[in-house]
Amino acid sequence: MTEPNLDAVYASPAIEGAHRAGTPELVELYEEIADCPACGLARTRTQTVPGSGPAPAEVMCIGEAPGAREDEQGLPFVGAAGRFLDELLAGIGMSRETVHIANVVKCRPPGNRDPQPEETAACQPYLDRQIALVDPLLIVTLGRFSMARWFAGTTISRIHGQPKRFGNRLVMPMFHPAAALRRGDLRAVIAADFARIPALLDEARAIRAEGPSDASSDADTPVAAAASLPASEQRALL
Ligand code: URA
Repeated sequence: MTEPNLDAVYASPAIEGAHRAGTPELVELYEEIADCPACGLARTRTQTVPGSGPAPAEVMCIGEAPGAREDEQGLPFVGAAGRFLDELLAGIGMSRETVHIANVVKCRPPGNRDPQPEETAACQPYLDRQIALVDPLLIVTLGRFSMARWFAGTTISRIHGQPKRFGNRLVMPMFHPAAALRRGDLRAVIAADFARIPALLDEARAIRAEGPSDASSDADTPVAAAASLPASEQRALL
């Protein structure tokens, strides 16, 4: 593995992080994302926010899209929701240094509006490659946009905390940490779901030890979930 040159000046903190992680393919992916012109968000972003943390990693958290702080700093979950995410990770003895953190959409939607279908579609090949590089045992989806990739026709309030196996990994749907900033009663719910991660990881390690799964080839194939939900339910909860 090539040693990262830590005296170098990198194009963004995310790219520097990818160099530190020592994964040239991740550096390449982040550099490609940095120049992405694929949707209208390219015109309004300050910079892209591809992700943070190591690759491979046992746990990958996937949120929705960068907000104002993330757009400013170039790193995911560095605002108020990110501070809560850090607390949740610390509560189970983990940190963002060991967990890979990403978003469905890599650029900030103006005014923090919901990402549009054409924006999530434009970013999907990047997330596909990111998941392949990180190869997590456990994916934690934060909120309805990342949940929609694996769970069709349901809502986060119905299925949060109920993991499901896809190929040789587990996917655990959770409320978005920002939901707890708006509804204080969700803090304990999210913390309880997070508290299950260590046991789930043991389960996920056992699954991986079984060897390659027959279903692994389509394990990460997105489902057309968002479209199958009534619009009122899609908007109701993060
Ligand atoms: N919310 C997200 O979904 N992602 C971030 O990076 C920050 C806030």
